[in-house]
This record gives sequence, structure tokens and C-alpha cells, in this order.
Amino acid sequence: MTAAELPDLERARARYAAERRKRLDVNRGAILDRHQFQAYFDDPFTQFQEREPAHDHVDALVIGAGLGGLIAGARLREIGLRHIRIVDTAGDVGGVWYWNRYPGAQCDVESYIYLPFLEDTGYVPKLKYSYGPEIRSYAQQLATHFDLYKLALFQTAVTGLTWDENAGRWEVTTDRGDAFTARYVVLMQGAFSIPKLAAIPGIETFRGKMFHSARWDYGYTGEDLANLADKTVGLIGTGATGVQIVAPVSEAAKRLYVFQRTPSTVAERNNSETDVEWFTSQPAGWLRQRAENFTMITNGESVAEDLVHDGWTVFYKAILGSDFADVGPEEQALKREEFDLAHMEHIRARVDSIVTDPETAAALKPYYRYQCKRPAFHDQFLPAFNRPNVTLVDTNGRGIDRITERGVVVHGEEYQLDCLVVATGFDQDADFTDRIGFDIAGVGGQLLSEKWKDGPLTLHAVMTSGFPNFFMRVTRDYHGTSGVNLVHTLEEANVHFAAVIAELEQRGMIGDPVPEAELEYVQSIMGGRHVLVGSGDFLQSCTPGYYNYEGQTQRKSPLYANYPGTAMSFFRMLRQWREGGQLSGLRLTPRPRT
Ligand code: NAP
Repeated sequence: MTAAELPDLERARARYAAERRKRLDVNRGAILDRHQFQAYFDDPFTQFQEREPAHDHVDALVIGAGLGGLIAGARLREIGLRHIRIVDTAGDVGGVWYWNRYPGAQCDVESYIYLPFLEDTGYVPKLKYSYGPEIRSYAQQLATHFDLYKLALFQTAVTGLTWDENAGRWEVTTDRGDAFTARYVVLMQGAFSIPKLAAIPGIETFRGKMFHSARWDYGYTGEDLANLADKTVGLIGTGATGVQIVAPVSEAAKRLYVFQRTPSTVAERNNSETDVEWFTSQPAGWLRQRAENFTMITNGESVAEDLVHDGWTVFYKAILGSDFADVGPEEQALKREEFDLAHMEHIRARVDSIVTDPETAAALKPYYRYQCKRPAFHDQFLPAFNRPNVTLVDTNGRGIDRITERGVVVHGEEYQLDCLVVATGFDQDADFTDRIGFDIAGVGGQLLSEKWKDGPLTLHAVMTSGFPNFFMRVTRDYHGTSGVNLVHTLEEANVHFAAVIAELEQRGMIGDPVPEAELEYVQSIMGGRHVLVGSGDFLQSCTPGYYNYEGQTQRKSPLYANYPGTAMSFFRMLRQWREGGQLSGLRLTPRPRT
């Protein structure tokens, strides 16, 4: 699109602002108390297994058996730890890929850079973008490869961690009666672990079948969704998850109503099979280089070549790359906004070119800047709206009015349903200890919830003073970086933990940050924003969603901050710190002889 063909920027801005206001006017944030609605969070995938409680000692406890926890286990294995125990509430490994088994679940990041340790396991992903079952099965393969099943405890929630100063180790309790000790604890709970059930009036009165997308009930739908053939299904939520659910359900159900509050940006997927010959003939280390290349591009760092070359990199290379580098900041911002508008026009034109009903097409067009929400890529989502059994029920930004015994009410009209799938995302705003589900008592019995009551304090996002031998990789705003390829972030965090732990092991020491070093680090990054979604102004102009705390944009305390540089600069900073070999900023005390 040339500059002359671009729609007027002012008009676009006004439209975006109006759409944002419309959505801010509704009560967005309220969610059901998960403790009261526990049945919706129960595991439908694995039968409960009785077992004896564990009363032993391990070298390391890893909390969370998702890809992050598995990478942690693998890295700790590499540095020679023998007794590594992974604990997870799920019935097996996989994390988000254990829980999110909804039909059509697929990773939107290239499998070659998303699936860890491919060079170690020799596994060749089937497709450029893997589907959920392949990722889950690969997670199992990783657990076997790194011998992480033997000591693992599944269907188990940690209920307490208490530092035993005399013994220099952590006492661990769980909801299964386990009481064991661990020299190191690595916390790897993901960002998308608590399904969000929106507090829609009447939701508890619905008499049909209802489940969250992260608890898909195949007992009801059938493994191949065949049981939906005579069912009317409703889907609430059209985020990255909802977009993937629409096509498979549209093919199986008698009728599908898609209840939309805000349309997603849905670009081409263009998935392809892996060229095995190409994959297996690459030089050693190519996957790491590829992952770094992707992270650099999606953070605006310049590279000679775009190795992944997909919807992410092409967009980020253009908008963050060097094209706009030789102009002043204001002109740069303007040029980026124009580029964004052209891209969004392409996304909107794609809707028109696929969806035949003009009213449906108009409602499916997103009006906000591209990075306001996690972009979606899908080739079957839009065509599904041309099927006679699929109806888009657009709520014009307001959400649904209420839920009744029989179905969903929008604009006063009731849609009767047999089944309601709730794809309303995940709770990302709960306080830290609420999110992880337990408190942690460090040196002198100090609780982490107390220490962090005004906001988090960490050294480099991974350790916190007063909590020795404790490592964490938490989500955004806890002093690190995030990125499109979360697994790369997890990998870097784990390389870091493992190096620190190896050093502590070698020196026979216990380590936690010196309070002054922690404070200095946090002060140096305060005000840091998520590089991907840009400045505060950008977020303030965004349609509400979890990226901007449903439109609030600010956390309650300035202590919630991101590392202000790019993800790669954060990783480089960590590497430099490690290479110094001094463990600077850590307080080291000799490990008691046990
Ligand atoms: P999400 O992005 O938070 O989307 C939730 C959806 O539910 C939105 O469409 C939201 O509308 C709607 N919603 C929430 N409350 C509602 C209410 N009361 N009434 C009506 N609609 C309501 O959650 P998600 O789609 O599960 O995705 C979460 C994240 O998981 C993604 O951002 C991505 O990082 C990850 N994910 C990745 C993949 C992948 O790799 N392909 C797939 C799925 C998920 P509004 O937009 O108006 O708020």
C-alpha cells in the first residue's frame, strides 16, 4: 500500500480510541473466585492416582513440569545434580500443553526454535508450527531423555516452602502429605496456569455443559468431536485460543455461535511440513543461532539475515528494524504508526476477501494497533464464518449480557446452547503468592508475600534476598524480559540458574542476593517497559486486554518493571555477570555439613 492509499491516520486514531473507550466502559476485570468453582479447574485428562507420600531429600525441586521445568531439570542434570524432583498439579509433564488440549491447539512460534533440546534428542518436528499433541508428546520425550520421571510427583500441589537455616535446605510440603527437603528450589510456574472464568452474571446457572478451553471435556465432545454432531455449541472468547477452536468445532457441531467482544488480528499461517533432509543437514548449534536471530528481530535488533522468516519476523523487522533508524524519534514514531496502519489495513482487507457476509466481515475486523493483543495466524478461522452452521454474535465491545439456564444473552436475545466453551484466557494479575498457590518462608521465617507486599524485589529477576538457593522465572514485570518465543526466555533463565548452582556446588556455599545489590538492580530498571509492546503511550492507546491490565496500563507499584533493554541485551547482561565468575551481589554462606 502506498502512502497515498493509506487511510487518514487521524481517522484511524479516532476510530481506535472510540473502540477502546467502548470496551473500557464495561466491567471487564471481574472473574469468578477459582476456589469456589473448583470443579471447573479439575483435571479431566488423568485419573487420580493414590500414592505414598514422599519423605526424602532431593538435590533440587523444580516446581512446574512445563517446558520451563523440563529445561530446568535438563540443565540441572547437565551440571551433575542427581536427585531432581519435578512437582506439578497436572497428571504428566507439558504445562500449558498438558492442559490446553482444545481441538486445533497449535503453537504460533516455529517449532524448530520453540521445542527445546532438538539437537540432543534428535527429534525432527513434523511441521513448521506444531500442534498441541506433538508438543505434549515431545515434552514426555524430554522427561524420559533427561530421566526426570523417576522422582516426579504429579497431581501434587506444593503447599509450603520453608528455609531450614540449620540444615541449609528447603523443607517442602504438598497437598498429598509429602514432606521432603531440597537443597535448591527452582520455581517454573507459567504465566498461563490459572484459567480465567469471567464473572458473567448468571454463569453459574447454566444447565448445559460448560468448560474452559484449558479443560476441554473430550468425554462430552468425543475425541474426534463426533458427539457434537447434534449439539449447539457456544464459544466465548476470540483471543489466540478462541481463534484456533472455531474451525474444528465448526466442522463437527450442528451449530456454532461465536460470541465476540473484540476481534483478533488474524493473519496467514502458511504452515508447512518439515523438510527432513534440510533439517538434519544443518550444522551443530544452528537451532540456538536461529532462536537468537528470531529474538533479536522481534526486539528490533539488526541482523544480517531473517532465518525464521514468518509473520512475526517480517512485521517486527519492518516496524522495529533499521528502516526508520535515521530519523528523529517523533518522525520514527509516526512512520511506525503509518506502517502499523498499513499492516492492520492488510489484516482487515483479508477479512473482506474471505468472509462473504458483509456484516460478519465488518464485525470481524480489529480496530487497534497490531501489537495491542497477541496476534493470531490462522488459515481456517475466517473461512469457518462462511459455513451455514456458524454465526458470529458480535457484542460490539460490550461482552455478553448474561448467561441463563439455557444459554447466552446478547443485546437482549437469548441463544440456546447445549454446550458452552469458555476461552476467556488466564488470570495474570493475581499477586505472586496467590498465583503460585502457596507462600514461601525464607531466612528468619520471613514470608515472600510480606517481603513483596509493595512489589517484587529481585536480583536479575531470578533470585531474591533472604530466600537462599531459590531461583525463579516469573512472568512480565518481575524485572526480566519476555518475548514472542517464551521458550527462549525460559532457556536463558535456566542456563543462568544452572551456572549459579554449579558454582555454589563447587564452592560448597549457599547463596542469596545481598539486599543492597537487589535494590540497586531494581532501581536501575524501574520504569522499564515491555520492549515488544513499546512505550506507555502505546499501551495507553491500546484496546484493553491482558497486555495492558485490561486498560489500566499501570501496575500498583513502580517496583513492577521490566528490564529496559531488549531480551538479548538482558541475556547478555546475565552472561556477562556469570562470566565474571564472582557471583557478585550474592551473599555466600558455607553449606552446613549434614
Ligand atoms: P486472551 O488472549 O486473554 O483472550 C480472552 C478472550 O476472551 C478475548 O477474546 C476476550 O475479549 C474474551 N473475554 C474475556 N472475558 C470476556 C467476557 N466477560 N465476555 C466476553 N468475552 C470475554 O486468552 P487466550 O485466547 O486464551 O490467550 C492467552 C494467551 O495464551 C495468548 O495471548 C498467547 O500468549 C497464549 N496462546 C498462544 C497460542 C499459540 O501459541 N497459538 C494459542 C493460544 C493461547 P477481549 O479481547 O474483549 O478482552
